[in-house]
Amino acid sequence: MTGTLTIAGLGPGDLALVTPEVSAALADATDIVGYAPYVARVPVRAGLTLHASDNRVELLRAGEALRLASEGRRVVVVSSGDPGVFAMASAVFEALEASPQWQGLPIRVLPGVTAMLAAAARIGAPLGHDFCAINLSDNLKPWPMIERRLRLAVEADFAIALYNPRSVSRPEGFGRVLEILGEAGRDDRLVMFARAVSTPEERIETVMLREARPEMADMRTLVIVGNSATRRVGRWVYAPRQAR
Ligand code: SAH
Repeated sequence: MTGTLTIAGLGPGDLALVTPEVSAALADATDIVGYAPYVARVPVRAGLTLHASDNRVELLRAGEALRLASEGRRVVVVSSGDPGVFAMASAVFEALEASPQWQGLPIRVLPGVTAMLAAAARIGAPLGHDFCAINLSDNLKPWPMIERRLRLAVEADFAIALYNPRSVSRPEGFGRVLEILGEAGRDDRLVMFARAVSTPEERIETVMLREARPEMADMRTLVIVGNSATRRVGRWVYAPRQAR
C-alpha cells in the first residue's frame, strides 16, 4: 500500500470557501495532521484519525505526517487559508529536505483561499494594484528585518497585507508597526482591519493611519495598509488600477 501526503488549505473559516478538491482529499484521508483549531474544522467520521498538535511545532508535525505517509497512510496536513502562505507547506518541505528517504513519496499541495484575499473581497478591491504580504510574527525572523521590509514596502508604494499582526506574547510589535508606517508615509493612508473573515465573528473596519490603534488588531485579524492612491467609494475601498 502506497501512502500519500496532501498539504491542504481550509480557507478562512466558512465551509463554502473550502475548495471541492480539498473536500475530496479530506473525504479520502485516513489521517489528519495539524494545529488543533484547524484539525477541529475537519468533519469527524469512522476510520479517520485526527492528530491535533500545539502551535509552533510545525517541523515535528511535518515529520510525523511524512512518517505516517511512509507507513502507507493517506495523510492530509491542514492549514487555515492557503497552506503555502505562512503555513505548513514550507514546514513539510523543510522536513523533507532533512529526511531524503521520504523524497519519493507522492506529495500534493492543494491551494486554499488565503486570509488576505478573503478580506480584500469583503472590503472591495484594496489589492487591485501591486501589493506585498508580510508576516509580523518574529518567531522565525529577526524583528529588524520586519521593520526594514515595512519601510521598503511603503517606499515602493505597495499596498501591504499584514498577517499575524498581534499576539499575547508580543503585544508591542503592532504598535511599533503603526509608528513605522507613520514615519515612512502619509498619515491619511487607509488602514483596513478584517477580523475573523467569513465566520460569525467577522468585523471589518477601515480608518486613516492616524486613527489606527494597536488594539484594533488581534491574532484573528488581517490588516491591509492601502497604497497612496487607495480610496473609498461608498462603503467600499479600492486601489485604482492605474499607478500615478
Ligand atoms: N495560511 C493562512 C495564514 C496563517 S497565519 C492563510 O493563508 O490565510 C495566521 C494569520 O492569518 C492570522 O494571524 C491572521 O492575520 C490571518 N487570518 C487567518 N484566518 C483569518 C480570517 N478568517 N480572518 C482574518 N485573518 C485571518
